[in-house]
Amino acid sequence: MNATFPLGRPAGVRVGAHWSVLLIMALLAGLLAQSLLPEAVPGRSPAVYWTAGLLGAVLFLGSLLAHELGHALVARHRGLAVDRVTLWVLGGSTEMPDEPPTPRTAFAVAVAGPVTSLLAGAGFLGASFLLPGIAGVTASWLGWTNLALAVFNLLPGAPLDGGRVLQAIVWRLTGDKRRAQATAARSGNVVGLLLAVAGLVELLWFGSFAGLWLAGIGWFLAFSARAELAAGPAPEVLGRIRLGEIMTPDPVTAPGWFTVRGFAEQAASARFRTFPVVSFDGRPLGVVSLARLGRVPEQVRASTRVEDVCARPPACLLAAPETPLSAVLGRIGNRPGQDLVLVVSDGVLAGVVSPADVARTLELAVLGAEARRSAR
Ligand SMILES: [Zn+2]
Repeated sequence: MNATFPLGRPAGVRVGAHWSVLLIMALLAGLLAQSLLPEAVPGRSPAVYWTAGLLGAVLFLGSLLAHELGHALVARHRGLAVDRVTLWVLGGSTEMPDEPPTPRTAFAVAVAGPVTSLLAGAGFLGASFLLPGIAGVTASWLGWTNLALAVFNLLPGAPLDGGRVLQAIVWRLTGDKRRAQATAARSGNVVGLLLAVAGLVELLWFGSFAGLWLAGIGWFLAFSARAELAAGPAPEVLGRIRLGEIMTPDPVTAPGWFTVRGFAEQAASARFRTFPVVSFDGRPLGVVSLARLGRVPEQVRASTRVEDVCARPPACLLAAPETPLSAVLGRIGNRPGQDLVLVVSDGVLAGVVSPADVARTLELAVLGAEARRSAR
């Protein structure tokens, strides 16, 4: 999410807010100052209503922040790194680079936000009994808003907190994290679609424009849940796939001892743009692309050997056949012309893994790991 502005580092956690939050605060301040407060406590000046409305909106933002800090602080207490907290139009998100290692930790982190909102709600409602007039009405509104926030977030579908709670419970019961993830994502899709339908009914049946808002949130949830369903199992599956299983064996190689001109003639009959370079005894030396060879000046092509211009490790990757795909995934494909992984067995080039091999494997993983095995 871009277009955020910093809100400081409460409790050592970096917090930012998206500009859309300002719009929501303005809408809430207007709602309080122009309709809720004047109806509940009539006869005050607009300045009084707007002061209370703005204060209410700021405290609402503080409530969202408290909810996210609930997640962030429990995560950090349990040893998970927390990148930052971002508030935006639909609430907030806490970015954690690592996944919770156990169902118990996942449960604690997920439930911490709604519990914070419940406590805040109870606190504001308690205060509303003590405070007189407009302050009491504002506190009461904040109390019910926080309770609604807690209940909404506990709906049992990912990516809502309730979905994470459901995921932790299924993970604990089945011991299968991947299945738990899929269950929570499927449930999130259903919850999102139900909200969208409820919102459309509210809009079309009762003519309430709040329904449009609910329908939007519902669509967003269902969309996010389906994205999780597609992406969720991949990292687990990729950890089980070995390079040796997906490599292209016996690739067309560039003999390192050939001159650039000599290999150019040979390359003309191959269908590839990038080649593994091998030594005379079959040892892999690096990777070379036609583009790289083309940058060798014409007059020295007959005297320059391929091994003198090829990209060598660490500019290209050498790996054993047992290496899991997940271990090299982030390191290939970012430099054109060097994007082959050389799979080396007993010091000899056994095969290569190209970006196309990786793309095919990822697409098959999304379809299900069985498709990969039966396709081979
Ligand atoms: Zn939350």
